[in-house]
Amino acid sequence: MVRSFYESVLAQIDQEAKKIGLDPGITSVIKEPERQLIVSIPVVTDSDDIRVFTGYRVQHSSARGPCKGGIRYHPLVTLDEIKALATLMTLKCAVAHIPFGGAKGGITCNPAQLSQREIQRLTKRYAAAILPIIGSKTDIPAPDVNTSADTMGWIMDAVSMYKGQTVLDIVTGKSLELGGSLGRFEATGRGVMLTTLAALEKLHRHPKDTSIVIQGFGNVGSIAAKLLAEKGCKIIGITDISGGIYNPDGLDIPRIYNHVYSTKPPCLLQDYDDKKVSSVTNEELLELETDILIPAALENQITLGNVDHIKAQLIVEGANGPVTDKADGVLNEKKIIVIPGILANSGGVIVSYFEWVQGIQSFFWDLKEVNANLKKLILKSFQEVWDMGQKEATSLRSAAYMLSLKKVAASLEQRGIFP
Ligand code: GLU
Repeated sequence: MVRSFYESVLAQIDQEAKKIGLDPGITSVIKEPERQLIVSIPVVTDSDDIRVFTGYRVQHSSARGPCKGGIRYHPLVTLDEIKALATLMTLKCAVAHIPFGGAKGGITCNPAQLSQREIQRLTKRYAAAILPIIGSKTDIPAPDVNTSADTMGWIMDAVSMYKGQTVLDIVTGKSLELGGSLGRFEATGRGVMLTTLAALEKLHRHPKDTSIVIQGFGNVGSIAAKLLAEKGCKIIGITDISGGIYNPDGLDIPRIYNHVYSTKPPCLLQDYDDKKVSSVTNEELLELETDILIPAALENQITLGNVDHIKAQLIVEGANGPVTDKADGVLNEKKIIVIPGILANSGGVIVSYFEWVQGIQSFFWDLKEVNANLKKLILKSFQEVWDMGQKEATSLRSAAYMLSLKKVAASLEQRGIFP
């Protein structure tokens, strides 16, 4: 039986909770989201019709602090997917030692088929619909798949209009003009770069002798590609929704990045013109001969269906949940190391935390300070997860789950079940 993404996350929690001897009652608290909201979002289209979309906000846990997590716009968004992603946010914030719980939101829509003005109206109506449950000290949204600083600005504006004052700390991932943090835009990709290099060091490998393929050329994949290329790694394959490009001698990442991001919305990789590259599909890319594979698109990309064809020795999860739990078992047997998303892509929420703190203090840090603090936090977590993996002779995912579940459980136990 094929498990859904959410079932996969719950199965992993069960497995790791047993290993650390968690009270079954506490495990069942952790497995259930605290609050789930489904909203209907009517939007007047540019042609004056009314279309109704469905949106979600799931607050998985506030045991360790305000709920925190992004909002995604995608045709495949479902309540179950958002529940899985909210659960992973709780674990991610615990791995990173930042005082947040987990949440996630989303709207089932295809932003490629909507105008910017329609997306703006959709976003502001969604913000109004989830307003009763979000707040600077309760639940703080951020960007995720197909959302950006623009989206956060619109949410911030809608909330500010209701509150009668400008509320900076209601969302993170805002533009600098609206109280965002320096370094937030690059943070997730930077975290992927830092954890990848940390793993290479443990494996006594040099970035200059390392080939990498990256699935996804959005905010996470493109920045990770740029930063890893700057460190000397050879990026040999990249894809986006249109498919992608491959060159075993290495791709010219700065040139490709400038090409894709010189237009708004960004153009597709299939339109990139260079005789030195051949085209590759998303499926083929995952199976390329490479040292490192960075899935940085969506969940459920490496499954029992393709895991036997994966040739990379190290997988770094830029996306949330790109490897199913069954495929993860196969990778472990084959001794392919996986840096789990709750560690590898935690750079985004770490700098979101910095942004939130800066907004509350109305005192903003310089880029050097943001990047230095990000590096300090993410490498500390990497070391802890690595050490736990060694001590327990288990995978990095299992170690990261064990560490984070212990932290969430400790908060729940020390607070006591209300009332
Ligand atoms: N959407 C990002 C994630 O999955 C960032 C969340 C945040 O900054 O709150 O980690």
